Amino acid sequence: MIDIPDSIFPTNSTGQALCPKCQKAINDCTCKSYDPTQPKMDLFNPLVSVEKSQRHGKMVTVVSKLPPNESYLKKLAKKIKSKTASGGTFYVQDNYGVIETQGSNKNIILEVLRSEGMVVKS
Ligand SMILES: [Zn+2]
Repeated sequence: MIDIPDSIFPTNSTGQALCPKCQKAINDCTCKSYDPTQPKMDLFNPLVSVEKSQRHGKMVTVVSKLPPNESYLKKLAKKIKSKTASGGTFYVQDNYGVIETQGSNKNIILEVLRSEGMVVKS
């Protein structure tokens, strides 16, 4: 069971939690039946891309469109770093979480995200 607070969802300017899919307030979301006590991780569709770092010219794997909750990102980044055995960082940008890890680790990261209940395209 995934135990994460409601604040994994992006919020609007009034602090209301928004559905990442339809951008409506969670209470008005009609995408899926939503139980506020059970955050729906499958509403998140993270993007995983392998890019060349601007700073070092090395390959980095970037995961974007993640839940914006910092404590959750910290936990997820730790999991990804241990699975990929590489260094990494996380931050929140434009209301979504981003995790960057060193190296080309797309397949391992896809597996981790799926194990968290998120829907990720390869
Ligand atoms: Zn929705």
